[in-house]
Amino acid sequence: MSIQRKTKSLKAVQNYFDNRSAAVSVVELVGFFKDEMNKATVYRILSRMESEGLIHSFSGMDGLTWYASCKGCSSKEHYDQHPHFQCKKCGRMECLEVNLSIPKIKNRKIDSEIVLFVGECNNCLS
Ligand SMILES: [Zn+2]
Ligand SMILES: [Zn+2]
Repeated sequence: MSIQRKTKSLKAVQNYFDNRSAAVSVVELVGFFKDEMNKATVYRILSRMESEGLIHSFSGMDGLTWYASCKGCSSKEHYDQHPHFQCKKCGRMECLEVNLSIPKIKNRKIDSEIVLFVGECNNCLS
């Protein structure tokens, strides 16, 4: 793939996240870009953006990987220790802007945690 084409693909994915407040599943992303780039390219761009601190990933109810924009993360540090919320009616996935303190667990080293709140979103409630 040419450099120009690569840059164009990266920009397209970055734009997608810039224009979206909710999280997106990897399946939806691959489907969205299927005419522009193949699955492998989408995965490569996502992992690059994640290592640059632009987006973060987490697992949803169905075990799918989801991605959402980061706020104030850098390539050195990810600050995304927040829980996520999934609407069981419309499937919308959101980052919750609340602090969650992870308890210390005896005799265990914790590398990551998955906290997912499930319920009904603002749109579905009203
Ligand atoms: Zn909803
Ligand atoms: Zn998040």
